[in-house]
Amino acid sequence: MNELNERFIPKVAAKLSKDKRTFTILCPYCGEIHTHGAGVDGNLYGHRVAHCVNFCEHIAGYCLVKATKFFKV
Ligand SMILES: [Zn+2]
Repeated sequence: MNELNERFIPKVAAKLSKDKRTFTILCPYCGEIHTHGAGVDGNLYGHRVAHCVNFCEHIAGYCLVKATKFFKV
């Protein structure tokens, strides 16, 4: 991931699961809930490919960032 590409990728607040193994996000492309692996310590933020990649314009994915406020899932 270089800085140029990062400018065109939306940042998405990721909610860490209780067991710290998965992130839950509200997809900025399709509006659905997607889950992503959170690494071994629940700290694996960063770029992901959207799970709704059947829409080719979504291929850029998004960048998971730590959620600063709770959102309903
Ligand atoms: Zn989606």
